[in-house]
Amino acid sequence: MRYLQLRRTIYSLTGKWPKSLAIDQTKEIEKHWMPKLFDEHEKYQLERDNDKKQKMYVLPMFPYPSGRLHMGHVRVYTLSDTLARYYRLRGYRVIHCIGWDAFGLPAENAAFERSEEPDQWTRKNIAYMKEQIKQLGCSFDWKRELSTCDPNYYKWTQYIFLMLYHEGLVYQKKAAVNWDPVDQTVLADEQIDEVGRSWRSGAIVEKKYLKQWFIRTRAFTQLFLLVFVYLFYEIMNINTLYLLLLMINFVYNDTHKTYYSTKTPYKSPSSTLALPLPPIGFELVCTQIIARHGCRALEGRKYDKLTMALWTQAKNEQALTKFGQKFGEDLQYFIAINDKLGRGHLSRLGKIEHKNLAHRLTERMSLLLRKVLSTNSSTRIRLVSSGKSRTISSLNAFVKGLPLTITNLIDYEPANRTLLAFYEDIKYQTYLKNDKQLKNKIRSIHMQSYSKQMARNTLERLYQKSFIDKLTNRSYFIIDNESGKSIKNELDAVRMLHNLYLIGPNLREEGVGSLLEKYFNLHESAWFAYLQDAKEYYEKGPGFSDRTIIYNLTQILLDDFFLHSEQCSQINSKHFLRVRFTHAETIIPFAALLKIPMLSDKSTPINQTYTYENNNWRGELVSPMTANIQWEIYRHYNNDTNHYFRNQQILIRMLFNEYPVSFKYECKPYDMINQFFYTIDELKRCYRVSLYDSLDTLDKDDWQTLINIQRMWMGECNGVNILFKLSIPTTEFDFIETFTIKPEALLTVTHLYIQSTHKLARPDLIEETESGAKRLRIDAIHPLTERLLPIFINNNADFGPKIRANRTMLNVQIGTPISNKFDESFANKHNISTVIDSSTHWHRMDLETLLAELRSRELGGYRTSGKLNDWCISRQRYWGTPIPIIHCNHCGVVPVPMNELPVQLPSIENIKSASKTGISPLAKAHDWVKTRCPKCGNLHAKRETDTMDTFVDSSWYFLRYLDNENTTKPFDSKIVNKLMPVDLYIGGLEHALTHLFVARFIQHFMYSKGLCTSIEPFKRFIPIGMVQGKTYKTSNGQYVSKDNIITIEKNTVMHSLTKEPLQIDWEKMSKSKYNGIDPQEIIDQYGVDFARLLMLTSVHPRSLRNFNLEDGIVEGLQNWLKILIKLYVELIESQTKSNIKSSITNEEFKQIEIALRDQRLNTIYTVAFYIDSFFSVASAIIELQKLTRYLRKVPIDVKQQSNEYLISLCDVLVMIGPVIPCLSSELWTILQKQIKSNIDGYDLSKSLFEQNYPTLPDDYPGKINALFDTTIFASMPISRSLLPSLSISDVLQYLNENDQQFQMKRFIEQNGLKLARLRKLSDYCATLIYERDPNVTIIEQPSEPINDKKKSKTSKKKNIS
Ligand SMILES: [Zn+2]
Repeated sequence: MRYLQLRRTIYSLTGKWPKSLAIDQTKEIEKHWMPKLFDEHEKYQLERDNDKKQKMYVLPMFPYPSGRLHMGHVRVYTLSDTLARYYRLRGYRVIHCIGWDAFGLPAENAAFERSEEPDQWTRKNIAYMKEQIKQLGCSFDWKRELSTCDPNYYKWTQYIFLMLYHEGLVYQKKAAVNWDPVDQTVLADEQIDEVGRSWRSGAIVEKKYLKQWFIRTRAFTQLFLLVFVYLFYEIMNINTLYLLLLMINFVYNDTHKTYYSTKTPYKSPSSTLALPLPPIGFELVCTQIIARHGCRALEGRKYDKLTMALWTQAKNEQALTKFGQKFGEDLQYFIAINDKLGRGHLSRLGKIEHKNLAHRLTERMSLLLRKVLSTNSSTRIRLVSSGKSRTISSLNAFVKGLPLTITNLIDYEPANRTLLAFYEDIKYQTYLKNDKQLKNKIRSIHMQSYSKQMARNTLERLYQKSFIDKLTNRSYFIIDNESGKSIKNELDAVRMLHNLYLIGPNLREEGVGSLLEKYFNLHESAWFAYLQDAKEYYEKGPGFSDRTIIYNLTQILLDDFFLHSEQCSQINSKHFLRVRFTHAETIIPFAALLKIPMLSDKSTPINQTYTYENNNWRGELVSPMTANIQWEIYRHYNNDTNHYFRNQQILIRMLFNEYPVSFKYECKPYDMINQFFYTIDELKRCYRVSLYDSLDTLDKDDWQTLINIQRMWMGECNGVNILFKLSIPTTEFDFIETFTIKPEALLTVTHLYIQSTHKLARPDLIEETESGAKRLRIDAIHPLTERLLPIFINNNADFGPKIRANRTMLNVQIGTPISNKFDESFANKHNISTVIDSSTHWHRMDLETLLAELRSRELGGYRTSGKLNDWCISRQRYWGTPIPIIHCNHCGVVPVPMNELPVQLPSIENIKSASKTGISPLAKAHDWVKTRCPKCGNLHAKRETDTMDTFVDSSWYFLRYLDNENTTKPFDSKIVNKLMPVDLYIGGLEHALTHLFVARFIQHFMYSKGLCTSIEPFKRFIPIGMVQGKTYKTSNGQYVSKDNIITIEKNTVMHSLTKEPLQIDWEKMSKSKYNGIDPQEIIDQYGVDFARLLMLTSVHPRSLRNFNLEDGIVEGLQNWLKILIKLYVELIESQTKSNIKSSITNEEFKQIEIALRDQRLNTIYTVAFYIDSFFSVASAIIELQKLTRYLRKVPIDVKQQSNEYLISLCDVLVMIGPVIPCLSSELWTILQKQIKSNIDGYDLSKSLFEQNYPTLPDDYPGKINALFDTTIFASMPISRSLLPSLSISDVLQYLNENDQQFQMKRFIEQNGLKLARLRKLSDYCATLIYERDPNVTIIEQPSEPINDKKKSKTSKKKNIS
């Protein structure tokens, strides 16, 4: 070692390599290379605007400048830097930025405690940490750096706040806030843990009443949650929005959720739904539509007849319950109504539906109609039905909805069964009756034990148990000879009944809409609706992935649509409207053929089963009554000549149930702006493509945890919030707020309850009534009728489930005696007037109008979950973004004019004494507070003295990076739209919960304002696991520092003084636990490259990292680096040694080269696989270690002569370069100096990071894998050209044909797995991803550590040593 120190030098400068690499040489290498690498980053930054390269926005969460980097930072930044370098080498234009989340408490505390200016304190920390990050070799684009405490940044945070304010999304209210008594500040709900402690100080949080600023996050939650669920589909654009509106309208918006599957009455979009305009130059020239008939009476006499027969049987046996007797009456009445209407005939509601459909359709066509009527054209309307009575009635009702002026233009086509009743096709009918797999699938779904349980629940209300037992034991056989249907068991019985129940709402206008509602509870009706949906889905819908029969049949209808589109788009077209009236049997397969994204596009492999969890297909959504699909045909004006024109000038837009929807994924819209418009040529092209290639390539791995948490946290959006003003406001409250899942009860509220813990339940406000109830002396005012409502203190009312320790979901509840038993008896007992004046105009309004009225009165009315609150952003702190509001005595709250931003923080000198009083420190800055009212000029107006929660600052920083020097607005949409969304977002999961929620909120807002085209800000998210350190604890939980322990054996330690045995644990690093490791020490001791390697090795990014420097980890990595270095140093040495006499034959030489090539390509493949799939640099490192060990064993004479060997040496450095950039660059110079020949794919005159990433030759096979967690348990090669078109069933088949079939099946069984989805990685890999099947008990726990990847090997190893 001594002489090494004498000869301190490095190869790239001297051409000489030291015998061994000591730390001072390492340091010298890093000192030499670091500035060079930075120069190269500069070069990449010049590429900012190179649009030719695909962009890749890699973003680590920005740090709080606390003073020094900790291990968590190092873990995030080394990973993000490695990935950034990896993608740069792969040819991407990488955006990789960093900045500072610089407002916050520590700076303020430092300021007040040590008289340091927070600004200076922060800047000092930033400067230090910036040096540390640079020292880590991170390749950030420093020109994009930003800091949230910089007025050039917070000016725009204030600007966004004002945008929200002007949109009504910011408001101020006096509210009970969570008060941290230690930090003297307000906390958000999300910043309090389950037991009610502050996330920061750990103190028990108190309630305090302050006037606070809120952001109305709840306004977006409904969409928010849904979009999140659909995030994986990666079509985050306007398409999603309309589709979600459609879904919300049909499925989610029911205040009183009921389930009627395909018998759901039609729900038209609200009249306010604005459709996007066509591209400039295009106008509507015709519309065509296919519509299902409307609501109808029971078809035939089977369900009712059989149900009646069963009931009569029970009656004769005296087996009816009391409820069952009533049922008989209801049933008779229900049958009578159906008879009166005529079986299968349209009900009154059905007629209204079609009349209104025609009305809205002609509204949308009004311009065209005017043109048709004003010119003497001979263009007309064509109507056609399937010929069945209900489609004919629908047609007639439709005609009644058309303006009288155009009814003379109608041509009635003869009924067309071939087109509109193609399901009568004999082949299809045979399939329905005889296909075993179909029958088995539906039976297995129906016969689940849960079905039987639900059936019993339902029947037990009607019949005595003994009777149902007999039914279950098949003692009865009731058959309807006409239809062949029969009741053999309890399931049959309930299915008949359910079919009657479904028709109920169809007969609303006949007065029996809810007659049968009481015979099913919500769970039962939901379950039987699912059974109904499953049958429809398999028989008519997307069904099995590998069946084509439905699609084949439906093709005729699609052809008809295309044909008519072409005809009616011509100048001399004979028709401008064509309407087809049909049945669910046609609508469902047609929707399946069209593969409307997220709606009707997902079929199910045979080995899986359609459920509500794994599929969006819903009968009520795809084919409710009057379901309809419309194609609007648009033509370019310029082509108003008599010549035929190119089809490119014809655009088509599809409306599904009157909402614009996309055509299937493979179809490219007209352009990015007009997403719903497609040229007819493009549609013809993409619908000719194979129907089975729509793949489940969606990646939800990254998001799953977060989605689950956010879902739980936001809760289900199943209700509405309502605010009640108080008749006499108190100092603490102007109004009280509650949440109800039954907003339809709004008008029948007669009183309110509050809990005794509610702050209003003060002794001085409470009085006792004569009946002994406790009530407030203050009343609540009904938000609409303004009736005075008494407020009672009663803890027995239903305040919802507990959500946190000692806290129920609500502390205020409404009393509605009309619909609630508890409220009814309470009202009776305490003489509350239950008389509701239902003659007021309120009672004539529908619920949506009432809610809109609440919103306009600012008294709630937002659909939301009971769990989520609006976001309180007021903080009584100094070091934050000032809220840009002025309070004026005359004008009230006045926003600061945009052109006066930023409102700058005043100097701290004036306000030091204000620390920790609970009042905003800014209130003491009198000169600053006093200002002129921008509205009336009043000179005694006052500035808002609260500052914003720092989560507001970080809610949009990823947008600002992209345009951080903009001085006229927060960012330029054009620039941002090119680079958003963030492709990889990297950060800790703890922080991510709140942060991602608000960042997503702001992005949704920007999207809703048209400032961003991506609705979601982040595409993939890599949650980084915590870094933990080893702790030693005494039996009473005291932490002991390392200096005070004695190690006895490997895992046995004791206290050096007390000799007490100590407990060893892994915990989050913390000073108080003596388990922190300062990254600086590691860098000082081992160098930067080694610190990076150490940080990235061992575990996947998302796993917890138990960090220590013991257990041989350091030595292991050092040994590997030695091997790596030696491979290159050998090249220098071989120059000086004469050629060794060859000991192997030419044939052997060739064999070794082939094996070497296999090994090398396999490594390239596997490294890319691990990084692209899991971002697992750790697994990539293991693969590279394997390759280097392999290379070491290559015989020396092969090393000296093989070109293949030299390529391997180049590959290794390019692949490991992103992890250890300095050492790799240094070793690269050896290749540059020593290799005299040309190496394929490399330019040795250029530096390492200017090389291209190694690629696989075209004939190198791709792979099909089966994966669970991170273990590949089956794998086989496949030609890469086949990969893009493979479907899940193809992949399954390939794997089954493989010799690994047995092993694969065993693994699946042993681990209790089910197939989740298929993921394709560019063009080299298709992976079937398996998940634990929760329904299967695992026989044996698998233990697959990360470095045991033996099963992933497919290329055969040849022993060459
Ligand atoms: Zn004023």
